[in-house]
Amino acid sequence: MTNSHYIAGRWVEGQGNDCISVNDPALGQPFAEFMAASVAQVDQAVAAARSALPAWKSTSASERAAFLRGFAEQLGQRREALIALQMRNNGKPRHEAEIDLDDAIATFCYYAELAEQLPAKHRDVPLAAPGFTARTRLEPVGVVGLIVPWNFPLVTSAWKLAPALAAGCTVVLKPSEVTPLIEQAYGQIADALGLPAGVLNIVNGKAETGAALSNHNGLDKLSFTGSNSVGSQVMRSASAQCRPVTLELGGKSAIVVFDDCDVDQAVEWIVAGISWNAGQMCSATSRLLVQDGIADALLPRLQAALENLRVGNPLTEEVDMGPLTSQAQWLKVASYFATAREEGLQCLAGGKALDRDGWFVSPTLYTDVPKHSRLWTEEIFGPVLCARRFASEEQAITEANDSRFGLVATVCSADLDRAERVADALEVGHVWINSVQAVFVETSWGGTKGSGIGRELGPWGLSAYQSVKHVTRCLG
Ligand code: NAD
Repeated sequence: MTNSHYIAGRWVEGQGNDCISVNDPALGQPFAEFMAASVAQVDQAVAAARSALPAWKSTSASERAAFLRGFAEQLGQRREALIALQMRNNGKPRHEAEIDLDDAIATFCYYAELAEQLPAKHRDVPLAAPGFTARTRLEPVGVVGLIVPWNFPLVTSAWKLAPALAAGCTVVLKPSEVTPLIEQAYGQIADALGLPAGVLNIVNGKAETGAALSNHNGLDKLSFTGSNSVGSQVMRSASAQCRPVTLELGGKSAIVVFDDCDVDQAVEWIVAGISWNAGQMCSATSRLLVQDGIADALLPRLQAALENLRVGNPLTEEVDMGPLTSQAQWLKVASYFATAREEGLQCLAGGKALDRDGWFVSPTLYTDVPKHSRLWTEEIFGPVLCARRFASEEQAITEANDSRFGLVATVCSADLDRAERVADALEVGHVWINSVQAVFVETSWGGTKGSGIGRELGPWGLSAYQSVKHVTRCLG
C-alpha cells in the first residue's frame, strides 16, 4: 500500500506531510495507511500531464474511444474486488456498490461513443456573407485537474475522467483522502491498457495536496466536486489565474408530494431519496414538502418505513443502509441531532447515533420544521429528513425554491400536467417525476445557484473539456 500515487505511468510512494488512514466505517477502524503526495509530486504529475498532452490530443477519436471501452471492460473484470472495497471503505450496501460500478462502466461506454462521433462535429459553418468559409474544431481544453469527494468515488471520477480523456485532455486526478484506494483501479487499468504515460495521473492526499493541485499554474482547467466551502477556495484559485472551473457542490433538495399520490408509493420514493448511501448524497431530497390533504396519512407510514430500514454492516449483515463513511461525517450528523434538540424540533424517527461500534446513525424524520431552522436550510449529508406541510401548488414551488442551493428535486403527483408544470418551475438542474433518483448518462448532472457551475454527463459533460475554435478563410 506504499506506492499509492500514479505519476507519469509509475506507481510511487507518497512524500507529503499527511498520513492517510483508510477506515472501515462499520467497525470504526483503519485497515490501511500511506503517505500523501507532496507538493513536489503534484508538480511532477502536472508536468507529466503537460508533456503527454501533444501526443494524446493528436490521437484519433477512435483510438481514444478504444481506450475508454478498455476502461469499461477492465472495470467489469475487477467487479468483485471493487464492490467489496466500496462496501468496506464507504459502508455501501452491496446493491448500491453494484450500481455505482455499473454507472462507471456505462459512463466510459457512453463517452467512447461520443468520442467516435467527434470527427463529424468538425464541420463547416454556413455563412450569410459571400466570399468566406468557416469551419468548427472542438479541441481539448488541455491539462485538467480533477478533484473529487468520497461519497461515490468510482462514479464522480468516471464522470470527469471519461469525458476528459474522450476530448483529448490529459489529467491529474485527486481522489478523496477518505476513499483513496478505490480510484487506484483507474491507474491500474491505465497500466493494463498501456495508456501512454502521463495521460492519467493520480495523486492522493488531503487539503494540502488538493490545494497544490487547484492552485497549480500548469493547469488549463480544474473540475471540482465537493463541498461549498472548499469549492469557493477552488474558485478563488481559478479566478486568480482567470482559468475555467467546473464546480459540482452541495444541495438541500426538495421532494414535493401532492395529495393525489398513492401513499405507499410516495413513501418508497421519499425513503430512497434520503437513505440511499446513508443520505450522503449531494442530491439527497432532504426537504419533504407534503400537501395538507395527505400529510396525516403519509407521515406515520413514513415513520414506520424509516424505522424498519435494516441498518448494519454491509459486509456481515443483510442491510438497507450502512454506516456513515467517516467519523467526521458521523460527528457532523450528531451535531445536527443536538441542534434539533436545542431547537425543540418534533422528531418522529431516529435522531440519534446507534449504540454499537462504527459510525452508524438512525434514519431520522423531523416534522413541521420551521423555515429558519438550520436543519431545513443546511446540507447535513446524512439520513436526516425534514418535513413541512403546504396547501397549494404555488406555496410548494415557493418553498422548494427558497434555498441557496438548486441541485435536484422530485415531484410526486398523479396529475402529470401538474407534475410537469411544477418541474418546470423548480430552480434546479434535474427533476424526477414519480421516480427514484434514476441517473442516466445521457442526461445532465449539475445545479443552479449555490449547487455549482457547469454540467456533467451527456454531451454537456464532454463540452466541459472542449474548447471551440473556428477557422475562417477569405476566398479572395
Ligand atoms: P470536500 O469539499 O471536503 O472535499 C472534496 C475534495 O476536495 C477532496 O478530495 C478533498 O481532499 C479536497 N480538498 C479539501 N480541501 C481542499 C483545498 N483546500 N483545496 C483543494 N482541494 C481540497 O467534500 P467531501 O466531504 O469530500 O464531499 C461532500 C461534499 O461533496 C458535499 O457537500 C456534497 O454535496 C458534495 N458533492 C457534490 C456532488 C455534485 O455532483 N454536485 C456530488 C458528490 C458530492
